[in-house]
Amino acid sequence: MSMRSINPANGETVQEYDTWDNVYLHQVLEACHEARPAWAAKPIDERCDLMRKAASVLRQRKQALAKSITVEMGKLYKDALAEIEKCAGVCEYYADMGPKFLADEMIESDAGRSLVAYQPMGTVLAVMPWNYPFWQVFRFAAPALVAGNLGLLKHASNVPACALAIEDVFREAGFPDNVFRTLMIPASMVATVIEDPRVHAVTLTGSEPAGISVASTAGKSLKKSVLELGGSDAFIVLEDADLELTVSQAVASRYLNSGQSCIAAKRFIVVDEVADTFVESFRQAVSKLVPGDPMDENTTFAPMARHDLRDELHQQVIDTITAGATAVIGCVPEDHPGAFYQASILDHVKPGMRAYGEELFGPVAIVIRARDEADALAIANGSRYGLGGSVWTRDSERGERLARQLECGCAFVNGMVKSDPRLPFGGVKASGYGRELSSHGIREFVNAKTVWVR
Ligand code: NAP
Repeated sequence: MSMRSINPANGETVQEYDTWDNVYLHQVLEACHEARPAWAAKPIDERCDLMRKAASVLRQRKQALAKSITVEMGKLYKDALAEIEKCAGVCEYYADMGPKFLADEMIESDAGRSLVAYQPMGTVLAVMPWNYPFWQVFRFAAPALVAGNLGLLKHASNVPACALAIEDVFREAGFPDNVFRTLMIPASMVATVIEDPRVHAVTLTGSEPAGISVASTAGKSLKKSVLELGGSDAFIVLEDADLELTVSQAVASRYLNSGQSCIAAKRFIVVDEVADTFVESFRQAVSKLVPGDPMDENTTFAPMARHDLRDELHQQVIDTITAGATAVIGCVPEDHPGAFYQASILDHVKPGMRAYGEELFGPVAIVIRARDEADALAIANGSRYGLGGSVWTRDSERGERLARQLECGCAFVNGMVKSDPRLPFGGVKASGYGRELSSHGIREFVNAKTVWVR
């Protein structure tokens, strides 16, 4: 079997990579198993020093790494550069904060001395998606490795060059052999890795079906799992919103990364009073996006990552229009050998239509009209997903009241939903469980161990 890098901007195959067989996979798992005790026993400050070096390597190699992202999954080169910088930032954040987050916690009890000690869980498998091919991995790897765990990466099959480049970053930074390994395996071999006694936990960022499969295997093997799954984030526009700010952020939040972000705004829930004005301003702003070569700095709108994903998205759009929604702009694939889809808006999306209940993982905004604030909140919380959500109003107290009522993991007021190393990130309902980033993220893969001394 093999994996292929295909440039989505022109459909050309860049390189082909052989996948591993079972025998080689087991050799690597054994080598990691042997590397584990020494890594876990290393003082945390030494692990943090290595993580700071990983940040430097990322910055030194920024241009080449960003180019590998753009070539494999089509992201605008300037956004790929920003992604690498964000990865360097998360390495430094955990190098600085890790020792504080994992310091012993003294607890008063009936003991002479009692405390909680945070100890590494072991070897953690990360099954990762292609949409932020570096960031998704580093936000897992930085805390996991600082905590003394080993990291195994099974990356998405369409980004093999990025997967191998990430392993190189840790090697070049001086991490000991086999502390972080990229596994060149297909999804069908993931269960074997989870079940292996030398592997202790798994984290997956990806679709719901992949999450169900990984969590079931982890459950059967009694292993810890964290799931970061899909979302259909609500973007609630109230009648007192600052429309200029709201529209500019609506465009950024829906069309960044060609709409392929789990926390992209996907459902624009707009109260009737301002709906027509909002939709017209939104249409005008979207019409200014410039599709083209993602390496070109004048391009503002990227292709999608794969042709099959573009075709699936278009089918969701066609089905929704057939069921009665209105195409405001776009809603057709570009006539181009690359995986381009026009920046699109669907209005009057109603319950029962595909786009109302499903995640649209691409550059298509849906507008759902609401009677008032209460109706908007009910629509937002009617989703089976619960990743992020945002509220747009000039009254920040009103916004916070609504944000607190949103059933999701990250609620923003007058700001687009984004990840930040200092704040926990994750979802509820069908968007998954567990948290990444902040102190919460580093504590997912540690044993909070009670030590009691008379
Ligand atoms: P995907 O198809 O689920 O792929 C994600 C990863 O899971 C890939 O490495 C894939 O490997 C692997 N995989 C797929 N099926 C599997 C299975 N049955 N068992 C084990 N591993 C399996 O998702 P995607 O299309 O790449 O990403 C889009 C989805 O991810 C969207 O729903 C999006 O919202 C979600 N997402 C969530 C977050 C978050 O933080 N919550 C972030 C980004 C994306 P192969 O490539 O080899 O199939």
